[in-house]
Amino acid sequence: NLTLFWHRRDLRISDNTGLAAASKHQKVVGVFCLDPNILERDDVAPVRVTYMIGCLQALQQRYTEVGSQLLILHDNPVQALPRLAAALNAQAVFWNWDVEPYSQERDRAVMEALKEKGIQVLHKNWDQILHTPDEIYTGSNQPYTVFTPFWRNWSSKSKAEPVATLQGVTGITSAEQEIAQQAGVIPLPTAKDLGFVWDRDLIIAPGEIAAHERLEEFTYKAITEYKEQRNFPAIDGTSQLSAALKFGAIGIRTVWAATIAALENSRSDETDTSIRAWQQELAWREFYQHAMYHFPKLATGAYREAFKNFPYENNEELFQAWCEGKTGYPIVDAAMRQMNESGWMHNRCRMIVANFLTKDLLIDPRLGEKYFYQRLIDGDLSANNGGWQWSASSGMDPKPVRIFNPASQAQKFDPEGEYIRQWVPELRSVDTEYVLSGNIPEQEREALGYPLPIVDHKLQQRQFKAIYAQQKVH
Ligand code: FAD
Repeated sequence: NLTLFWHRRDLRISDNTGLAAASKHQKVVGVFCLDPNILERDDVAPVRVTYMIGCLQALQQRYTEVGSQLLILHDNPVQALPRLAAALNAQAVFWNWDVEPYSQERDRAVMEALKEKGIQVLHKNWDQILHTPDEIYTGSNQPYTVFTPFWRNWSSKSKAEPVATLQGVTGITSAEQEIAQQAGVIPLPTAKDLGFVWDRDLIIAPGEIAAHERLEEFTYKAITEYKEQRNFPAIDGTSQLSAALKFGAIGIRTVWAATIAALENSRSDETDTSIRAWQQELAWREFYQHAMYHFPKLATGAYREAFKNFPYENNEELFQAWCEGKTGYPIVDAAMRQMNESGWMHNRCRMIVANFLTKDLLIDPRLGEKYFYQRLIDGDLSANNGGWQWSASSGMDPKPVRIFNPASQAQKFDPEGEYIRQWVPELRSVDTEYVLSGNIPEQEREALGYPLPIVDHKLQQRQFKAIYAQQKVH
């Protein structure tokens, strides 16, 4: 009796709740479906597909090691999965549940189609978060819309241990593999085969072994200084595990267990505080996933009334300059070029450029959110949307409207101008003071081929505040 396990954003065999449940059966085969509904959208980042394909390659290897297979489909899962399951006479299909609106709709359709064929479905395993959306409610049984009380509740609850790695299973026979091919199974394509070209190195090697190594390296040292160093983009002070977490190359319970081990090894209050600061970032990730689950409308627009019909100017030229890292504001340009060239951007800089797009350029955050999604290796609907709504002040957890001053952000978080010089090489020979303030003399700018500031920060922030004040509801 064959059981299929449908991988989606859980590209690993260790610490995978749904797969561990499936592996109670003896013959377990993995399947991944390259979904045209996702791959043919206009917001897919080549770097992200490249990372994902790398993870799938590594996962195929892992399946082979335990004596089974990972099968690949490239078709709409609503038809392709039931077709494959029926052809192989599978008894059951398992998968892990997801918070995203599209995934839930698709999963319901797949479930119906499987049931019609008399195949048992087990899909309600939660895997990518430590607490499910219906575990964390306010005293009055409502989802949280403010992070701090969410964090208090979330961090007070005990967390599950990592679950067992898939082992002791068998795969399908070669005769069955032929049947699988007739039902649509293909060899794993490359990202290029799918039309996505990324020629540079990936910031993190794909696959679960690489993700484990990265976690170990980070929790051995950098985590102990995270609180101090996390805000400085020139320092390698964060985990860069976001892509692995997005695609589930590592299990969240494993990540949490590593933080507990780090706390046990800690010898000082400062180290404890640092480790807790990192745990808090994991909670932000879950806060936004719960938010997306409870308020799926977040995916399409502002949460706060004041921003639902905000008259953004959406000037096309300004938007292009922002995308290309040619705004004449060095910290903004460095950050955008880091993302364009590496597929990743430091969190401090994500906040700076998102703030700049919405408050200085008066451009709708949804345009920035989409551009990020088209470029990020870790592009994730909930985290990206949460980050953009936070920066645009349009989301839940409202604080007074924050406006970042790019120059003071650079002075505070890149005091030597190291990060700026790395990504904006035109400015390598310019005095640090100018690099940070952005007040580079006009003649020098021309000689360096570096653009003039495309807007005046002071004027623009006044303009933004005036428009905000005119909104009838806040
Ligand atoms: P670390 O500092 O090591 O944090 C550990 C993990 O916690 C991260 O890998 C991530 O999974 C999670 N995390 C950290 N900060 C946040 C946060 N603010 N919100 C949600 N999760 C967080 N993160 C994404 O994973 N995908 C995105 O598409 C994304 N878009 C963003 C857009 C904007 C405008 C902003 C302000 C933030 C965005 N973030 C996004 C959150 C954050 O910037 C990245 O998770 C982080 O920079 C990734 O680097 P790291 O793995 O080294 O993080």
